[in-house]
Amino acid sequence: MQNLTVLGTGVLGSQIIFQAAYMGKHVEAYDISDEIIAKLPDRWEYLKAAYKRDIPDAADEKLDAAVSRIHGTADMAEALKDADIVIEAVPERLDIKQSTWKKVSDLAPAKSIFCTNSSTLLPSAMAPFTDRPEKFLSFHFANEIWKFNTGEIMSQPQTDRDVFDQVVEFAKEMGMVPIKIHKEQPGYVLNSLLVPFLNAASDLWVRGVASFEDIDKTWKIATGAPAGPFEIYDTVGMMTPYNLSKDSSDPVQKEFAEKIKTDFIDNGRMGKGSGHGFYDY
Ligand code: NAD
Repeated sequence: MQNLTVLGTGVLGSQIIFQAAYMGKHVEAYDISDEIIAKLPDRWEYLKAAYKRDIPDAADEKLDAAVSRIHGTADMAEALKDADIVIEAVPERLDIKQSTWKKVSDLAPAKSIFCTNSSTLLPSAMAPFTDRPEKFLSFHFANEIWKFNTGEIMSQPQTDRDVFDQVVEFAKEMGMVPIKIHKEQPGYVLNSLLVPFLNAASDLWVRGVASFEDIDKTWKIATGAPAGPFEIYDTVGMMTPYNLSKDSSDPVQKEFAEKIKTDFIDNGRMGKGSGHGFYDY
């Protein structure tokens, strides 16, 4: 599959577009307005600098060639007309996803495979809004895909096995390590492991069992892991754990959200990106 169409050019959409183009794919980048499309070159400059920093052989000509394989448009019909595969990275709201897939189904050629990059919504909630549930599945990336290159590929009950295999191949061609998930699982593999792990760490800290430094040290020294849970919180940034825990039915998780707000967010300690979080960088 050579022609990719990406719907949504935000944080993740722009990374998917650039990475696929970097690996030689032709990419149609769709977003809802000409103004957003006009600003895409700024994103490519940002990503070019990141690739140069993180990938040893990312030379200027390779990066410029990637940009030349990207075409941006706010016309969905134009974006979809030759699509072998469509990856949707529109906002994480089920109603927006469902209406997007309805429109895409009317416009895409019969050959197109449809993938959602949703982090929290199950593909079976979107498949009925397409005209081809057998060609619909999840293909989920991690933020900073050029470095953290897992591609979690997850089928829903109606996904055709051959379509699943084609997406696995496509993931490899765009430089991802495919993680094959054969049953629907909220959180895929990564977050099914990470969320309970981080919750266990925050529980120990909030209840005063141990300091966050000692919790991190235990995990790192005893398992050889490169980062402890509170270093992971700093990498993720404080807003995500705050939003996930503030409405929790578990009183300890609720208290964790309050501590994150008063000790960190209110003091501008937003995580590694801001230079300060649990640790100073
Ligand atoms: P974002 O807000 O940065 O980008 C969303 C983009 O979609 C914007 O460019 C917006 O203009 C566009 N958009 C809005 N309405 C649209 C519509 N109706 N049709 C097409 N485009 C529309 O969001 P994001 O962080 O890139 O997240 C997008 C998806 O990727 C979500 O499903 C999210 O769960 C998933 N995801 C995000 C991350 C992450 O770390 N940010 C990681 C993995 C997966």
